[in-house]
Amino acid sequence: MVAALNAVTVDYARGRALGPIDLAIGDGEVVALVGPSGCGKSTALRLLAGLEAPTGGQVTRAASRGGTAVVFQAPTLAPWLSARANAALPLELAGAPAAEARRRADAALARVGLAGAETARPAQLSGGMAMRVSLARALVTEPRLLLLDEPFAALDEITRRALADDVLALWAATKPAIVFVTHNVEEAVYMASRVVVMTRGPGRIAAEFTVDGPLPRPAHFRTTPAFRQTAEAVSAALAEGIAA
Ligand code: ATP
Repeated sequence: MVAALNAVTVDYARGRALGPIDLAIGDGEVVALVGPSGCGKSTALRLLAGLEAPTGGQVTRAASRGGTAVVFQAPTLAPWLSARANAALPLELAGAPAAEARRRADAALARVGLAGAETARPAQLSGGMAMRVSLARALVTEPRLLLLDEPFAALDEITRRALADDVLALWAATKPAIVFVTHNVEEAVYMASRVVVMTRGPGRIAAEFTVDGPLPRPAHFRTTPAFRQTAEAVSAALAEGIAA
């Protein structure tokens, strides 16, 4: 177990935003969180990241702060730094020697298909490439827990699909636990071994689905009956959760 929420609730001044919710993330598990807008998915991710404390219940985190990486929807790169310097930043902040930080940053960039783009500035990169740098930066420290908050929402469908495969290839290399938020049911079922469907806010768990099949996904996985049936079931649970 790398992180868990037990009977967790989050209340803001306007009222309850999340829960009560129970969610345990196992080592190396890839979990998708789907649910209606405003149901508390980002809040759940911040709790798992240790960036926010719950109002009630308990958050357990096995990974230290350094063992957790978070990637947001916007790549949030430093515009004045090269792709290499952006990817090396977490290592430099952790006090790694410059040469080692550079070597590991270049290796991380190569793993996301950006060999040759090390010296490019963010303004010279496409949206998909900038997101790849952001992923390289998240993975450069080899976290045990990777949290992705709608990482591909701003990207076109072809780029999204390529990045989904990239993330799974990266996952296969070091097997971190991954929790990612998406509004895209097919993306959830493609990338995750478990899909957690939340109700409308304050979000609780409406249903959970195990996605059978190997990770990373084989070619044409999206056309298999298992994929189609799970996607249908997730969509139905989502519709029910919204109506509930
Ligand atoms: P979306 O799918 O639209 O990104 P979400 O499911 O990620 O939404 P959250 O961003 O977690 O939902 O927000 C859950 C609820 O908590 C919303 O009603 C939101 O307005 C509220 N909320 C989130 N952060 C705060 C905050 N810091 N202060 C007050 N209310 C907040």
